[in-house]
Amino acid sequence: MPGVSPLTNPKSIQPTPPGPSTLAVHAGEERQKLGHAITDPIICASTFTFADTQAVIDYIEQDQSRGEYGRYGTPGEQVVERKLAALEGGESALLYSSGMAAIVGLLMSQLSSGDEVVFFDECYHRSREFCAKHLSRFGVVTRQVKMGDYVAMEDAITPNTRLLISESPTNPHQSVVDLERFVEIGKRHEVPTLIDATLATPYNLRPLEFGVDFVLHSATKYLGGHNDLLAGVLIGSAERMAPVRKLRGILGAVNSSHNIYLLERGLKTFELRMQRHNENGLAVARYLESHPAIETVLYPGLESHPYHDVAARTMRGFGGLVTFLVKDADWKATARIVDSVQLARIAPSLGGVETLIEQPLVMSYYQLQPEERAKFGIPDNMIRIACGIENSADLIADLDQAIRAGLSG
Ligand SMILES: *Cc1c(COP(=O)(O)O)cnc(C)c1O
Repeated sequence: MPGVSPLTNPKSIQPTPPGPSTLAVHAGEERQKLGHAITDPIICASTFTFADTQAVIDYIEQDQSRGEYGRYGTPGEQVVERKLAALEGGESALLYSSGMAAIVGLLMSQLSSGDEVVFFDECYHRSREFCAKHLSRFGVVTRQVKMGDYVAMEDAITPNTRLLISESPTNPHQSVVDLERFVEIGKRHEVPTLIDATLATPYNLRPLEFGVDFVLHSATKYLGGHNDLLAGVLIGSAERMAPVRKLRGILGAVNSSHNIYLLERGLKTFELRMQRHNENGLAVARYLESHPAIETVLYPGLESHPYHDVAARTMRGFGGLVTFLVKDADWKATARIVDSVQLARIAPSLGGVETLIEQPLVMSYYQLQPEERAKFGIPDNMIRIACGIENSADLIADLDQAIRAGLSG
């Protein structure tokens, strides 16, 4: 910029923040590591030593961030927590042994007897189950309102409401929350908000930038990314996270050092994998939408999706999960398509390098009555494919032969 002195050019004072892949590779790590190694060590220690009594006293009085006992935190865990906080653009991240442990840890820290929590009804079924079946035993009231009905959400708020919760996008319907409206309702009623952004990841959606108070991820999915670990993470302001961290030290749902290392290693390729998941998801969704035997495709990146506008406005990409309904197929014909697939593996979960496929009726809702399944919006002809990072042409060719084989069988 000619004529602008380096000191008055804001760009020269405030360097551009690093991109997601630079953060994924470097953020949170010490530059010089044990033994001059380029990678972090796996420290297998349940406890950490002090040189003398004064060192213990200094640790307590100065609130030092060193290790004390494994349940309260470990050096490897701190690295990954700092990396995840940087990727999400938050102050403080807290790791748990699974996504569910993170949800339970947060709810237990925020809710007491007589308090209420409001959910959008498409939230992860185990989270809702924990509230409705278990927190109710401790006097916590759960109110579920229809996904995307902001008026109903606001009407469900009472003076006892302590948390508004939603997933975005939801699974398997891929409904997307209008975060501006969601946050505005929370702020006006002074109720903190939580978004389970597992399906979006910090690459595709940045809930904290909209003013959401807590972001949650099952790191088992895209963050770990290799179908080889379970972990969960919560991210928020240092102030909000401090009591949550204290309670985690009591609940004890922490990861082994090996698990933490796998997560750190998986995160190195986070942006590269997300770019491919986004490309594969969109390519598979477009292919399915153009297929005459497919009735509906639920993918927020498609113009036909009911939540496409809000998704396009707020998300960078739309992930690898694609849900579709097969035209005029009963549950058996649908199952034949799933069974004819040769590349994808039949399994629950998503977000790993391997493509996974499942029929929600069978995988998650088999023991429910048809009326209950209808209530959850799970028709017999629904298939969910969680695209991995294989080449999209191969995924599409495989689906193409599977649909043909399944429907002729
Ligand atoms: C998998 C999942 C969870 C639960 O996480 P775990 O790591 O399996 O405990 C929660 N929310 C969403 C959206 C998920 O996909």
